[in-house]
Amino acid sequence: MQPAIVVVGSLNMDMRFGVVRLPAPGETTSARCAERSPGGKGANQAIAASRLGALVAMVGRVGVDSQGDELLESLSEAGVCVDHIVRDAHAASGMAFITVDEDGRNVIVVWSGANGRLSEDDLKAAENVISRAGALVVQFETPMPTVKAALNAAKRHGVLTICNPAPAQDVGADLLSQVDILMPNEIEASLMANVHVADAPGAIRAAEVLRTRAASRVVVTMGAEGAVYVGPEGKWHCPAFRVKSVDTTGAGDAFVAGFAASWLAKPDPWESLRYACAVGALATTTPGAQSPAISRGCVERLLQASC
Ligand code: ADP
Repeated sequence: MQPAIVVVGSLNMDMRFGVVRLPAPGETTSARCAERSPGGKGANQAIAASRLGALVAMVGRVGVDSQGDELLESLSEAGVCVDHIVRDAHAASGMAFITVDEDGRNVIVVWSGANGRLSEDDLKAAENVISRAGALVVQFETPMPTVKAALNAAKRHGVLTICNPAPAQDVGADLLSQVDILMPNEIEASLMANVHVADAPGAIRAAEVLRTRAASRVVVTMGAEGAVYVGPEGKWHCPAFRVKSVDTTGAGDAFVAGFAASWLAKPDPWESLRYACAVGALATTTPGAQSPAISRGCVERLLQASC
């Protein structure tokens, strides 16, 4: 299989607790429900892109434990190539603790585990698959030297690089200069650009600042306010699709996957922005970070219903 998209990133076992109201610091709250499911930004993005019809390979690390088995199984079931996921005998698989309130707002704590040991050597071992991909997708849940090595490898081979700078980190211009399409959410965009983002004009201002630093195309997601695109072709705001949201966990990951899959099929900024917003919206309609609502058919139906 020749993957179109290589995702370098994290795999976590998510523990998800549903609560009436998110606890304040120092407060204890009883969960109304609890469930365990595969997650991690990298895995979420890889699975969503594969469900949207892209050929996807993932580069990552999991422990030699039952969680690692389950994480690999869920990727394989979704059609993602797992040949470049290393089993690490010295670290447990990553974990995330997600608390979601009745309005779908969340608070997330991540334990990186094996993800924190993804190494530059792992990237070297995967260079062959990266070199033949259409796009490389990275996030910041794996060590920064590895993220940089992945971007450098892609750039050396002329592969399009997409960076979802989450969770927010202070990154230098050297990293940004290797990114073709930067996709922060509003919080990450505010921090990186030092511009307050509260609405679409604010998101466009932040994107313009980030473009002056390096990345030639910037997409800022704004939850229920939709997303903006700023690039050499122009700037657009796509309002969010109106859906019945129950859990916004993973909406950003689904959005990144949707944008990457659409852009690879046809690099049209407005179409890719709209497609990604539809995928992000669908991701919020079911609980969990790897929404079963994401499929090509569901996206097409939502796009058509909103014409
Ligand atoms: P993140 O999860 O990274 O914070 P966002 O919350 O900004 O990402 O969500 C990504 C995209 O998913 C948004 O740009 C939007 O298109 C879509 N989305 C998120 N929340 C909703 C919602 N409540 N209703 C409809 N679409 C949503």
